[in-house]
Amino acid sequence: MIRQAKGKTPRRPAKKPSNNQKDPVGVYCRVRPLGAEDEECCIEVISNTTIQLHAPDGLKANRNGEFKETQYSFKKVFGIKTTQGELFEDVAKPLVEDLIHCKNGLLFTYGVTGSGKTYTMTGSPGQGGLLPRSLDMIFNSISPYQAKRYVFKPDDKNGMEVQNQVDALLDRQKRDSQTTVPKTPTTRRIDPEFADMISQEEACKADGVDEDSSYSVFVSYIEIYNNYIYDLLEETHIDPIKPKPPQSKILREDQNHNMYVAGCTEVEVKSTEEAFEVFWRGQKKRRIANTQLNCESSRSHSVFIIKLAQAPLDADGDNVLQDKNQVNVSQLCLVDLAGSERTSRTRAEGSRLREAGNINQSLMTLRTCIEVLRENQMCGTNKMVPYRDSKVTHLFKNYFDGEGKVRMVVCVNPKADDYEETLLVMRFAEMTQEVEVARPVDRPICGFAAGRRQRNQAFKEELTRRLEERGGPLDGESPTVLNQLLQSFPPLPPCEISGPNDDVTLPRLIEALEKRHKIRQMMIEEYNKTANMLKSVLQEQDSNLLSKENFIQEQRGKLGEKDKTLQNQKNEIDRLEKKSKMLEYKIDILQKTTNIYEEDKRSLQHELESREQRLQREMSEKRRMEARMQGIVTDSKLKWEKECERRVNAKQLEMQNKLWVKDEKLKQLKAIVTEGKTENRQPQRPSREKDKVPAKRSASPSPVPSTYNGSQSSLSSLEPIYNFSQTVRPDPHFLRPGSVSVASCISEWEQGVPQSRRQGSQSPPDCRKRAQGLPDSLSRRRGRCWARDVPVQPAETGPPVRPLHRRSHSAGGERWVDHKPTTNVDLDTVLQPNIPNSIKVNAPNEKALSKCDKYVLTHQELASDGEIQTKLIKGEVFKTRGGGQAVQFTDIETLKQENPLAPSRKRRSSETGPDCESNEGDWTDVQTRCSVAMEMRAGSNLGPGYQHHGYQKRRKP
Ligand code: ADP
Ligand code: MG
Repeated sequence: MIRQAKGKTPRRPAKKPSNNQKDPVGVYCRVRPLGAEDEECCIEVISNTTIQLHAPDGLKANRNGEFKETQYSFKKVFGIKTTQGELFEDVAKPLVEDLIHCKNGLLFTYGVTGSGKTYTMTGSPGQGGLLPRSLDMIFNSISPYQAKRYVFKPDDKNGMEVQNQVDALLDRQKRDSQTTVPKTPTTRRIDPEFADMISQEEACKADGVDEDSSYSVFVSYIEIYNNYIYDLLEETHIDPIKPKPPQSKILREDQNHNMYVAGCTEVEVKSTEEAFEVFWRGQKKRRIANTQLNCESSRSHSVFIIKLAQAPLDADGDNVLQDKNQVNVSQLCLVDLAGSERTSRTRAEGSRLREAGNINQSLMTLRTCIEVLRENQMCGTNKMVPYRDSKVTHLFKNYFDGEGKVRMVVCVNPKADDYEETLLVMRFAEMTQEVEVARPVDRPICGFAAGRRQRNQAFKEELTRRLEERGGPLDGESPTVLNQLLQSFPPLPPCEISGPNDDVTLPRLIEALEKRHKIRQMMIEEYNKTANMLKSVLQEQDSNLLSKENFIQEQRGKLGEKDKTLQNQKNEIDRLEKKSKMLEYKIDILQKTTNIYEEDKRSLQHELESREQRLQREMSEKRRMEARMQGIVTDSKLKWEKECERRVNAKQLEMQNKLWVKDEKLKQLKAIVTEGKTENRQPQRPSREKDKVPAKRSASPSPVPSTYNGSQSSLSSLEPIYNFSQTVRPDPHFLRPGSVSVASCISEWEQGVPQSRRQGSQSPPDCRKRAQGLPDSLSRRRGRCWARDVPVQPAETGPPVRPLHRRSHSAGGERWVDHKPTTNVDLDTVLQPNIPNSIKVNAPNEKALSKCDKYVLTHQELASDGEIQTKLIKGEVFKTRGGGQAVQFTDIETLKQENPLAPSRKRRSSETGPDCESNEGDWTDVQTRCSVAMEMRAGSNLGPGYQHHGYQKRRKP
């Protein structure tokens, strides 16, 4: 509301009454019908608030489907069938009502060229637009209460003065003399172009018009083109020959910070027709100016401003109150904006380009201002709105700052060609809706009682009637107020003049009249006093009421704000709740996924573990297998190694033996041959005599030439205890052939298998090892020993052994360990060695060994013929380096009883035939050479080193 005051009225501190209630900019959408030449439609009205844009087919293909159907919502959408009247009802009528109730309004049409902005704003004959309808409604509402012309007079500072009756009358007279136009048109249709714009039936009227006020309407019409303001109602002398270009106007800010066009013509109009006439004048001028400026109307903004001035009537209800503070001016701006199309579409060139740029610039500024406003309001920021960047926005700055209602009609042409520009228009329009402007407050009540005009009217009528009645015969029958009043005065004295010299009556009358006059004066004074008192009381109460109402308004505003905050918070809570729900849902899903993964992990781990276990098992199995295989391999390797060695050794021994035997035989043969030459006549027989010729034998190259008797024998230590030779000799048939090898003897002894005389039988490895461990020479020497199988006479024939026979060599310093295992069968003296000065033991021990230097083991076993044969295994006792005792076996004697009737003996005898001598020789030569050593370590009590194979084997018999 713009309240104007005359002169230098100080700024009202409460210029903008605190009102926190805000309304969004009302944006309406009007869709014009498709032109006859246009075919494709890109807009569809979905509901009375929503439209949908369809991208034209070509565009869809080009933009790769970027443009789809988009919907836009507005306060209301008017389809192609909407009439101008319907649109006015919804869009402009409330603004006109506001105008009449001292509130400002701004209504503009926005859209591309040809979308129907001008049609909507101005209309065409028979289809008046918003502008003529608004004017019509205003005059329909206020015409009974219009002030006389020039009572309200605009000053040149956007203010409004109230002139007194005389000045107004003078101005009126001046105007009448200047113009020839009739003061009040007799008909509504003054211009054919506006003929039938609004039919009488469509006329509408505002409700609640304050009848106690006086009104006056002023109109201005300006054009903003190229960011210049032109006054379209300016009375200029147009020179038809050399027309001057129109002068542009500037914007100013009045004392109330309202923007106005300085020096702009404001024409007071008293009727719709007159207003039309003025508008039409402006239109005509616009057309002329546009031709002068080479401008199309679509490139300029036109602003039609309707100002309504109103002031309360005085207390009498007679005249406009001569109080400048009580004048209210409200205005409604109807703006037909320039086409919002882009520069490219205008096909501008040169100066046109600049022009188009400016048009776009002003619309761009409008967009920017709206954007900043919205941002400030939504985000609580305080950015500066660039109103000053263009004249349009600068002029309407106050509206957006909260000086009135703002409404916009977005006009759209549904043709497909406009699609892209329409899209931009829609986006701007949607954004504009989000801007809120403060709701204008109600007009404050003036200090007078309502209904003055009517009461005054009624009073006047009544007075006239009464006066008329008084003008008739005074019968005094009806006691009227006037009569009562007249009667209250002192009665007039008789006023009949008696004559020319009557100087009593007239002075008396004069006196009475003076008295009456005095009374009247007093009454008037009284009345005035009372009236003033009442007035002041009323005014006081009115101001009280006003302040109360203001307070209420304030509180309402606060409440509204609180409500809004609450609503905002509610919305925020809703949003957050939604978000939290969403997040919860997400968490749920994630939890589930995690569970699944964990389960997977567990099962995989389980599988891994089981596989590891299996692997472990398999590994250990493998290791075991390996070990087993290793064992088997080593075992078999060892076994085979041993076997091979054994066989090799056996073979070696055998071969050596054979060699030796052959050698011996050869020697003997040689000897025989040489002897045969000398003793030809005494052919040698294999007889006992042969035994008597030791020379022969001594001549033999036996490696052991000495026999039992040879005390000087190198093997004296091996000297047998018994002189078997004497015992055996008488029966050489019992002698077994000496072809038995040492190896077989050892083998027999080692294995304890006397029955089997097979050569090469298996021998324990230890023994062989020891044998191998002997020095080569000794081994060779001793390896050639063989066992003497001593045939023994059967027991009944008497023991062939003379136990008391002591060999000369053996008797003496040697001491023997006589080892007789307990398991031996007691054969009494038969086949038993009897060694004097010996230590008899059942098991060898170190103590006994340490005392002796000879060792003999009596070993019994079962011969192949079932007889017990006794073997005397002899050895020498050494002191080992470690302090222990070792036994080195040197000889084996076999004592055996044989049955002379046994077939073997026969064979033997036959066998022995020619070889007897040699056998005998063999026998006499028997020097057992055993290379088996036994070792007893120091400190050990028959430790593992002492292993006499006879022990184990001898149990077998
Ligand atoms: P703008 O002012 O936006 O450039 P106009 O108002 O001049 O567009 O409209 C262009 C043409 O379209 C005019 O001939 C007008 O009569 C017609 N027109 C516009 N809107 C309508 C409507 N709603 N109904 C019928 N005709 C219309
Ligand atoms: Mg237009």
